[in-house]
Amino acid sequence: TASPPASAPSSIFHHRRLMSTSSGDRFTATLFPGDGIGPEISAAVKKIFAAADVPIDWEEHRVGEVVDPRTSSLVTRESMDSVLRNRIGLKGPMATPIGKGHRSLNLTLRKELSLYANVRPCLSIPGYKTRYDNVDVVTIRENTEGEYSGLEHQVIKGVVESLKIITRSASSRIAEYAFKYAKDHGRKKVSAIHKANIMKKTDGLFLECCREVAANYPDIIYEEVIIDNCCMLLVTDPAVFDVLVMPNLYGDIISDLCAGLIGGLGLTPSGNIGHDGVALMEAVHGTAPDIAGKNVANPTALLLSGVMMLQHIGLTRHAEIIHRAVLHVIKEGRWRTMDLGGTATTTEFTSAVCDAL
Ligand code: NAD
Repeated sequence: TASPPASAPSSIFHHRRLMSTSSGDRFTATLFPGDGIGPEISAAVKKIFAAADVPIDWEEHRVGEVVDPRTSSLVTRESMDSVLRNRIGLKGPMATPIGKGHRSLNLTLRKELSLYANVRPCLSIPGYKTRYDNVDVVTIRENTEGEYSGLEHQVIKGVVESLKIITRSASSRIAEYAFKYAKDHGRKKVSAIHKANIMKKTDGLFLECCREVAANYPDIIYEEVIIDNCCMLLVTDPAVFDVLVMPNLYGDIISDLCAGLIGGLGLTPSGNIGHDGVALMEAVHGTAPDIAGKNVANPTALLLSGVMMLQHIGLTRHAEIIHRAVLHVIKEGRWRTMDLGGTATTTEFTSAVCDAL
């Protein structure tokens, strides 16, 4: 017998409606199916959205195949324009070769589209047992600079240099985003995560900007936590944290740690948000080459990224229906995918979510 539907704690996914992209009652969203498990989980999301009658038409784009001379990257001008025109998009994971080759497609999209804020909510899934059942942490990661500037070179043979860029403008912008997010979502505390004891200039400037912004939000508690201590606290008592804001690389690492706290990468969504509400949502996980093509991937992370997208454009009722359905299927347990200890295929899980709508 099925247990009652889990209630959808939608506030964590609730992004303010920033713009209207509607033409009539329908929206158009750009879809990048991506690589590895990307096409399988994108197909699952499309199926569930269609079953839930979500009024979205997909504009599908493949990237990563050829360099477009107009963008000097593997991301084509058409795909970039599609996101800018539609202002919303959903992205499957994209492969990046390690140590060689082209610039990451993810980085190109984030930089070219000025998607400066990466928002990664991590919320315990009711009924799915992990060590902690009270995780409710949102990581807000600066998305455009830091160690991801791509400025690496060889100084002399055997010596290489990588530049970490921190600017006042990008740091103040992400701090402002984090405090505004905290205020809009009824959250109590923002913790700035850093290593300013060692990186005195770069992380020092980041903290300076966070403090300046914090002064304008007297109702939100502000604290500073060194990243190593933050990791220790997250694995011993994640409830001490609420909203975390940090430079790019720290955000990449901490958000995977948070994903592990709630049951793994298969469950964690994220949003890349730009200036005037342009938003490209994506799962936190990668292409999972070890399971690609086997019909066993968990589509929940991409589906919840889609839920964030629906919230972002104000389709809150559809968002809530889908969110409830996926939580219900995971809680009920019969159709869990392999990463959650189950045996269901991606297709079976997807059908179960459609049935639970
Ligand atoms: P990964 O996230 O792809 O996989 C890590 C582990 O988690 C694997 O065991 C995988 O099977 C599992 N996993 C991930 N997603 C899952 C899902 N939905 N369901 C079930 N299990 C899942 O990380 P990786 O192996 O380090 O990276 C593989 C590739 O993905 C690399 O090329 C990397 O650059 C790329 N990547 C892309 C993005 C992105 O597009 N945003 C993010 C991270 C990694």
